[in-house]
Amino acid sequence: MADTQSAPAPVAVDGPAFPRFSGAEVWVQLTQEEKAQIGAVAIELVASWRLRQRVYEDQLSDIVGRAAEAAQVLLTRMLAMEVSEALPDGALEAEDGITPRVPSLLGGICRDCGCTQEDACPGGCGWAGKDQCTACAAENAPAAGRLEL
Ligand SMILES: [Zn+2]
Ligand SMILES: [Zn+2]
Repeated sequence: MADTQSAPAPVAVDGPAFPRFSGAEVWVQLTQEEKAQIGAVAIELVASWRLRQRVYEDQLSDIVGRAAEAAQVLLTRMLAMEVSEALPDGALEAEDGITPRVPSLLGGICRDCGCTQEDACPGGCGWAGKDQCTACAAENAPAAGRLEL
């Protein structure tokens, strides 16, 4: 079979607009050792945030603050490294091997503007559909008779 060079590039936009990355799916496939390493680092990272918070709120000494900051920098780097090493090859890309996956815990993402639960449109928006926000739905709607402002 010969390749047809004139074939248009496939534009796959059906279903959810963004392929998702599920941390839970990856987690169950990790070894006990990987889980233990990632878990320990993640817990210590949160502990370092809490420590920095205590330093700020209780005005603890700069000495503790300095150590807390160093811990946070180190543990952030360690977490990224431990997770990167444990991730199966290609886990962060969709089936095509190119399209990046978006973390699933973020929830819905508007296909037209990228707004999310964490980052609504100016003035606020909700969900008009599975992957489109009310602001974009209103903007894209045909300007038929019932436009009221
Ligand atoms: Zn939108
Ligand atoms: Zn929106």
